[in-house]
Amino acid sequence: MSARILVVDDIEANVRLLEAKLAAEYYEVLTAGDGPTALALAAAEQPDIVLLDVMMPGMDGFSVCRRLKDDPATRHIPVVLVTALDGRADRVAGLEAGADEFLTKPIDDMMLFARVRSLTRLKAVIDELREREASGRRMGVIAGAHARLGGAGGRILVVDDHPRQAQRICAELAVEHRPIAETDAEKALLTARAGVDLVIVNTSARAFDGLRLVAQLRSDEASRTVPVLAIIDSDDRPRVVKALEIGANDILARPIDPQELAARVRTQIRRKRYTDYLRDNLDQSLELAVTDQLTGLHNRRYMEGRLDALSRRAGAGGEPFACLVIDIDHFKKVNDSFGHQVGDEVLREFAIRLASNVRAIDLPVRYGGEEFVVVMPDTLLEDARRIAERIRLHVAGSPFRVLGGQELLSVTISIGVAASLSGEDTPQALLRRADEAMYEAKSAGRNRVIARAA
Ligand code: GH3
Ligand code: MG
Ligand code: MG
Repeated sequence: MSARILVVDDIEANVRLLEAKLAAEYYEVLTAGDGPTALALAAAEQPDIVLLDVMMPGMDGFSVCRRLKDDPATRHIPVVLVTALDGRADRVAGLEAGADEFLTKPIDDMMLFARVRSLTRLKAVIDELREREASGRRMGVIAGAHARLGGAGGRILVVDDHPRQAQRICAELAVEHRPIAETDAEKALLTARAGVDLVIVNTSARAFDGLRLVAQLRSDEASRTVPVLAIIDSDDRPRVVKALEIGANDILARPIDPQELAARVRTQIRRKRYTDYLRDNLDQSLELAVTDQLTGLHNRRYMEGRLDALSRRAGAGGEPFACLVIDIDHFKKVNDSFGHQVGDEVLREFAIRLASNVRAIDLPVRYGGEEFVVVMPDTLLEDARRIAERIRLHVAGSPFRVLGGQELLSVTISIGVAASLSGEDTPQALLRRADEAMYEAKSAGRNRVIARAA
């Protein structure tokens, strides 16, 4: 996967060196020699990753990072801070400024590419979610509100067979989170599946294979979006690369520094909440986009998607399918005599009667106003007509209770039925035919079913 990387360093030679290394691996490279230029470029060019030197005159790397993370236009872009060797204080300050990763100078190529690859993957996921959320916004189904996403109060699973180390980690974390310790990998998988905000795995454990656990957490459907922090001895570079390769989100070097632990955990949890927030919004937006809010039935937009899928299948050889167009008789009178609220009650009650009289494979939808459609896959005309008759009777047969049971209304419906024999009809043609049949039923006196053969 290629990516665009913004390299920021005040020393020209450093910029050129990184640029050459990255370009050799086919990354696209943008460069900036100071903070303000970097901020402008990041906003304008939307790179996938920013590699940011800490030591710069004027605006230093921490300030640049903090500004990137404060700006909604750039906060989703991962930032890698390049610090001096053994810059523990720098790392903690950097995490607090919102940095996603660190590299120490002189930059080790293996570590550079492992980090870049892992961040590119993360960025791709975030981009996809942001993209879909933005289209939800354009469709007007996502409220514009922005959640406040803190990094505290997380449920954190610590998987470690070393009791003293596990205890120490949990004690540190308990200051602002809810840690759970686990010594067994199998049990840890179950707990992770049940829902946690972060898993910390000791990859040097003796009782289980830590890297294998990381891979399992990644491949399991229920835990795949949970971030994983791998504990690895600070001099074990190959293991760091391997862990990032199989999907660890971040590495915690052993011996563990408490401040660094706290800061890395907070970063992972904040990021998880951001992606969860995007995902939730997305599910909600998809749900809202295809559901009729008054009746809870699917809406016309959803039906059209399903009809397209049906007609593609029909085109490929063709299963028969049928549809009903249903219109409530003299519905305007209900509104005129009892008010719009009662009209709504009738629509809701009708939807319930409709949904309880079709088969599980059928799709009842509110097409608009007081018009409904049922799409029936794999159904012949005669069967569809029989189901329509059953629905008609179930509506006309007993009055609708409205106004909290004070009023009984008798309601009738007219139904048009059409079916496609061998997938020769387009769904649109079928729907049109059922609609014409429905109008025939209206002019023939209402409260009836008319079926139209092709
Ligand atoms: P017909 O038997 O010919 O179908 O007569 P009708 O009165 O049912 O048909 P018409 O199309 O004249 O009127 C439909 C009415 O349905 C008009 C509209 O105000 C009302 N309506 C549409 N959507 C809603 C809704 O969501 N709630 C309520 N209460 N009324 C609605
Ligand atoms: Mg009507
Ligand atoms: Mg109508």
